[in-house]
Amino acid sequence: MEPDYASYSTTDLEDALRKIDQATYPERTKHIQEELKIRAQTVPTGEKKAEDFDTNEQFYKCPHCEKKIGFFSRTNNSFGRIKHCPHCQQPFESKISAKAATAILIPLVLMNLLVFRPVLESLAFSKFIGTAFVIAVVISASFRFRKLPPQTVN
Ligand SMILES: [Zn+2]
Repeated sequence: MEPDYASYSTTDLEDALRKIDQATYPERTKHIQEELKIRAQTVPTGEKKAEDFDTNEQFYKCPHCEKKIGFFSRTNNSFGRIKHCPHCQQPFESKISAKAATAILIPLVLMNLLVFRPVLESLAFSKFIGTAFVIAVVISASFRFRKLPPQTVN
């Protein structure tokens, strides 16, 4: 008898789909896929809303009007996580994107070890200058400006 896939959790269904012998059980495979499709359509609205909110993450640009905000601008160098666009005055959040930081960090660290460090050492500079440079570049390049989620705007 075919298992009652409707009573399975989504994780169980995905697991079943991975493990099933699709050639031997084409009907069951189809049922699992259909059940998964239904689950995908019935995502709780609360969850969906949070995901749907578009933060419009920008790289040194206002997430509202998309005008450029310079790296050395007063807005960018003001304290605090919440900043205001000098063009449209809308508030936005400035945050370090961990994903961006990681993506930049790895090649830079390699470059530092292979290129900067030997050069700096040959010039009798401290090798820490290279490391400090890497950190400064990673931090400034991984900042992202994004719209504030609705619940934080009062
Ligand atoms: Zn703006």
